[in-house]
Amino acid sequence: MRIDLHTHSRVSDGTQTPTELVVAARAAGLDVVALTDHDTAAGWDEAAEAALAVGTTLVRGMEISTRHRGQGVHLLAYLPDPEHPGLRAELERIVDGRGSRAPAMLAALHALGIELTLDDIATDGVPGRPHVADALVRAGVVATRDEAFARYLDEGRPAYVDRYAAPLTGMIEAVTAAGGVSVVAHPWGRGRRAALPPDELATLARLGLAGLEVDHQDHDAGVRDELRGLARDLDLVATGSSDHHGLGKTDHELGCHTTAVEEYERLLDRAADAAAASGRPVPAVVTPGS
Ligand code: AMP
Ligand code: FE
Ligand code: FE
Ligand code: ZN
Repeated sequence: MRIDLHTHSRVSDGTQTPTELVVAARAAGLDVVALTDHDTAAGWDEAAEAALAVGTTLVRGMEISTRHRGQGVHLLAYLPDPEHPGLRAELERIVDGRGSRAPAMLAALHALGIELTLDDIATDGVPGRPHVADALVRAGVVATRDEAFARYLDEGRPAYVDRYAAPLTGMIEAVTAAGGVSVVAHPWGRGRRAALPPDELATLARLGLAGLEVDHQDHDAGVRDELRGLARDLDLVATGSSDHHGLGKTDHELGCHTTAVEEYERLLDRAADAAAASGRPVPAVVTPGS
């Protein structure tokens, strides 16, 4: 079984439609794929239909923008009821923050003599920094998405604009209350280690965190080993995934990291427990032929 629990479509900052993503997952030999667009469930229905058509198991998820100790932390949520009032309110607040940030980023670029319009960064969902980065590439200002981040869009660069992110601990509780399970995405990637030292991860585990994304391109081999040990000690599920963004991120091909079947089953068990305790109408795993 090949299981990839973290991917993005055009509904956030990937470059494939949910259908194209699921078809590509099948072609890549994946048996299970999770769609985890940033802060939205908007791609779920299309992806579910495609999964049934091509015969791939689909886990409905999302990657939620949170903040902890002043740093951004991405929280993967699997199988929550997106209509749970607490979860929905926070997702709306995050998406609204993204919407109002886009014009501010364009104004900051304008001040640097770079003219882009909202049309230039339009997308199927809500535009974020990756869409501005792609527009900068198309306009010939930079050669790649990475260069756009390094020169203009990373925190501390001239076109960086802050936006709302939900407090991490409250979000872990909201996901549980919505009947889902949460997993910290790339917890020690890109300098995030300081926000999440082992004692903090232990605290989050007590709050209901279900897992850690261990095998991810942002972690080198040593970090993966450390996180795997920590997951074992804290009784957290250890996942692995590609964080595929279509053509939007290089070196994140579908299935480049995968989740062991025993870990996947533990995650589903925890999700079933959370669903039962919450009483919410949670989405099922889409399983073709059943
Ligand atoms: P936003 O949510 O609009 O702040 O954009 C954050 C997203 O940009 C992340 O989820 C990544 O997909 C992408 N990203 C962040 N840093 C970089 C980078 N240095 N190069 C390419 N993509 C990046
Ligand atoms: Fe992304
Ligand atoms: Fe992420
Ligand atoms: Zn991601």
